[in-house]
Amino acid sequence: MGDVILVTGGTGLVGRGIQWVIENEPEGSRFGKRPGETWIFASSSEADLKDPEQTRKLFAKYKPTHVIHLAALVGGLFKNMKYKLTFLRDNTLINDNILHTSHETGVKKVISCLSTCVFPDKVSYPLDETKIHLGLPHESNFGYAHAKRMVDIANHAYKDQFGSNFTSAIPTNVFGPYDNYDLEGAHVIPALIHKCLLAKKNGTPFIVGGTGKPLRQFIYSRDLAKLFIWQLREYDDVEPVILSVGEDEEVSIKEVADAIVKAVGFEGEYSFDATKADGQFRKPATNKKLLGLIGDFEFTPFPQALDESVQWFLQNYDSART
Ligand code: NDP
Repeated sequence: MGDVILVTGGTGLVGRGIQWVIENEPEGSRFGKRPGETWIFASSSEADLKDPEQTRKLFAKYKPTHVIHLAALVGGLFKNMKYKLTFLRDNTLINDNILHTSHETGVKKVISCLSTCVFPDKVSYPLDETKIHLGLPHESNFGYAHAKRMVDIANHAYKDQFGSNFTSAIPTNVFGPYDNYDLEGAHVIPALIHKCLLAKKNGTPFIVGGTGKPLRQFIYSRDLAKLFIWQLREYDDVEPVILSVGEDEEVSIKEVADAIVKAVGFEGEYSFDATKADGQFRKPATNKKLLGLIGDFEFTPFPQALDESVQWFLQNYDSART
């Protein structure tokens, strides 16, 4: 019997990225589907992973040998601040159910998805894999961050007590097709794409909140997908790996907005509202560990990835999460 890879959260931004790579890379290639593999992309409608019984049923149905665990309650700053306990509790339940059921059913390997939000608020930069537990996370998302950090603790405990091959990945900001374009809760790239498109449609100015100066590392969901597939096949260690573009590939919010204006074909008035908060100026993470392990890897150039995301949104406006 071949490998069965269950991707939890398989219908989200990152899960759809993995599905795209598996369906579009040449079969048998480094990131393509391998002979005998079955990939399952599960959504919350198939099983609410907060519930242990539904989680057990999902595992009994597909009998996964490997799990890429992406499912999580995710949200922007406002939602994180307002629902701290919900973020803590839902994510703790989901993660515990996945790891425990994987252990009970003899899953060979689990990769769980963390986030750079888990890092301490006060920490030296660049962020690296050794700094997760060196201080408290930022107050605004401490529910989400603590639930995610505990996955790393659990992975170590499963390894020490049972020898399990459970590990984790830490992506920086992700964007791509199937993102959440909801103007209230979306991350910066999908929110600005949506805003710019509305400005074009309505003939109104495109106003970007903040000065445009902060720098961020963005990873295209289809590049991230390849890195997850690499980690699944070629990385067997409990310690997490940061999955990101390099520190020298930070882009400013202004560069993001400029690229969006170009990709959307917006020709109206475009400005920055410096009275709005900027957030942290930069919080770079190093991808040295990743590059040292993976060898050659080509990230999609940012303008191309952004253009593909904009085109996807234009073509799928009616079905996208808005
Ligand atoms: P999305 O919001 O796009 O997708 C979330 C996925 O999780 C969906 O498939 C959703 O299912 C599923 N899900 C949510 N709650 C449950 C539940 N109770 N039971 C079962 N499934 C559930 O998220 P992303 O793809 O952006 O995020 C994937 C992972 O990457 C998460 O762990 C997130 O923390 C992490 N991450 C994301 C970053 C980003 O910038 N987006 C940055 C760093 C880390 P359904 O579609 O049915 O609702």
